[in-house]
Amino acid sequence: MTTTLFTSINSLVTNDESLEKGILGELANAAFIEESGQIVWVGSSSASPSADREVSLAGKSVIPGFVDSHAHLVFAGDRALEFESRMAGSQYGSGGIMTTVKATRAATDVELDQNIATRAVELYRGGITTFETKSGYGLDVENELRSLRLAVEHTEDVTFLGGHVVPEEYLGRTDAYVDLVKGEMLEACAPYARWIDVFCDEGAFDYDQSKAILQAGIAAGLLPRIHANQLTQGRGVELAVELGCASADHCTHLSSKDIDLLAGSSTVATLLPGAEFSTRSIYPDARRFFDAGVTVALATDCNPGSSFTSSMAFCIAVAVREMHFTPEQAIWSATLGGAKALQREDVGAIAVGKSADFVVLDAPSFRHIPYRPGVDLVEETFISGTSIYRSNK
Ligand SMILES: [Zn+2]
Repeated sequence: MTTTLFTSINSLVTNDESLEKGILGELANAAFIEESGQIVWVGSSSASPSADREVSLAGKSVIPGFVDSHAHLVFAGDRALEFESRMAGSQYGSGGIMTTVKATRAATDVELDQNIATRAVELYRGGITTFETKSGYGLDVENELRSLRLAVEHTEDVTFLGGHVVPEEYLGRTDAYVDLVKGEMLEACAPYARWIDVFCDEGAFDYDQSKAILQAGIAAGLLPRIHANQLTQGRGVELAVELGCASADHCTHLSSKDIDLLAGSSTVATLLPGAEFSTRSIYPDARRFFDAGVTVALATDCNPGSSFTSSMAFCIAVAVREMHFTPEQAIWSATLGGAKALQREDVGAIAVGKSADFVVLDAPSFRHIPYRPGVDLVEETFISGTSIYRSNK
């Protein structure tokens, strides 16, 4: 097997707590060795063993690939006009989702598949090496099933989100739609999904309806996660903790009790700065989460309505500037935090035994990501030791 030594790295983020170099396990003048897609050695450049190949990254930095634990990539159409109107003063609500549902239902399989592939390339260019994606723009048995069948060709973290909103044809009959989601739709979709998710909020599903959907998913062998407390201070986080959800996502409007519940649980709080940015909403204060000891992830929430960004670097910059993450906390949350939100042990760190998923930054350290907002610093992205994107600038 060929071994490759990446050496003379100005700053290497390992996320290896055992190194006792802060939460990021940051090493200076560092090196690591990749073999058969895995990290097999990490340490100082001066102490590195020899390898079959050597790549010098002098003056550059390396971070683990970003883990985007929340995205909605199976859709057609866009909602640029809705965004424009919102920036002119209109309010965001969950109803806009139906615009995308109509476009998605009308699209061909090839169009939907192409759209996922196009977004995936954007993610890789931005240094994301693992991503989750959800259904949720089909909202009938045929189109939810189709969405998941297409999604599994692109990622192993596929989420069934039939409980996104109540589709128009079920308006006023939410309970009948909930029955469909946890009945026939779940039965068709469960074989293609790892996760079950529901949008528990005003204009979507209430506590009882959300609980019924998640419990049915759990009974079908899926792992639960939830859209919680984005629009209102409802009971989504409470439900997340009660059912042992891997992650409660958004967490924009939380009471002190919600923070305490999260802190006492294994549920990760996934914050989505792109959503607050694109809907001009107030940002949650990350210091509340960190001070209480809550595990926090950052994700893009890439979707055509409320957060049409595929850039984790952008999300990190906003998280630092507007949500009071430190740069270290933001990088950790976008890498190892995302891995924890997806319950993935194999990614999110540059440590022995982990998948060799990493990003070479054309910058002296990770700090330049929030420090240089809007500037593309990704020079090369590797998944399992293989280069999948290289900047030609
Ligand atoms: Zn979402």
